Amino acid sequence: ELSKTGWLLDITKLTLGENIGEGEFGAVYEGDYMGQRVAVKTIKCDVTAQAFLQETTVMTKLQHKNLVRLLGVILHKGLHIVTELMTKGNLVNFLRTRGRTVVNSAQLIRFSLDVCEGMEYLESKKFIHRDLAARNVLVSDDSVAKVSDFGLTKVDSKASDKAKLPIKWTAPEALRKEKFSTKSDVWSYGILLWEIFSYGRQPYPKMSLKEVKDKVEAGYRMEAPEDCPPGVYPLMRLCWEQEPRRRPGFSKLREKLEREMSKLSSECRE
Ligand code: ATP
Repeated sequence: ELSKTGWLLDITKLTLGENIGEGEFGAVYEGDYMGQRVAVKTIKCDVTAQAFLQETTVMTKLQHKNLVRLLGVILHKGLHIVTELMTKGNLVNFLRTRGRTVVNSAQLIRFSLDVCEGMEYLESKKFIHRDLAARNVLVSDDSVAKVSDFGLTKVDSKASDKAKLPIKWTAPEALRKEKFSTKSDVWSYGILLWEIFSYGRQPYPKMSLKEVKDKVEAGYRMEAPEDCPPGVYPLMRLCWEQEPRRRPGFSKLREKLEREMSKLSSECRE
């Protein structure tokens, strides 16, 4: 079926380069496919490969400037998933290695907006990510942030195996009764905002997973990151409303972030 749709790529046209990362199921390589720089995620296990292959069918239908673009797959020793190369790596490392001296608040709001727009698109397609976190956001050569790993999360054991859920990013109702929705993605987006404005810190620093689970359920929330623009922290708190219905959708969040962005630029002109 895939070969007819053009998503099945030709292994002889692929040149693998350096190892650029480790995924849960295999390594990620830089590469070249017919003159285009690509990233290649390898999945060696055949059973996992089969499951991933089904999910990539979903990915072929999702295209947006803020989603890492799937170029196709190669069936060879398991599965090779070929995507656009995001030369600046994942957002956590990007922010940690550069820090406050290099990246300003406007750039942080830009990243937040990028991710928000990608998620707004997924929301419009009624698609739930389930594993939104700064480690799953990648940065392109021209510093555009894009959501990655969408579509793969249903196969990902972290999301399907309750014991492996990313506790610090997962909404309370999703932890409690596996109730995943766009609004549980919004909760994760709030944690992602905290990661962005703290320049890639681990959320709930020094707290154990058990502690996070219990305290968040009881109403505890993280404080604002140091030097966070004043209008941004209230957005995090909206994302962390206990009641999913009270959390804003991604369109509303985008509007609010755009307002923050214009506030910043008018301050700069003063
Ligand atoms: P985890 O489940 O722990 O998030 P994973 O199995 O989903 O891992 P990825 O996050 O997709 O694996 O990839 C691991 C790392 O490889 C990323 O953090 C990133 O640094 C790098 N990487 C993945 N895809 C790309 C890409 N398209 N361009 C550049 N680097 C990439």
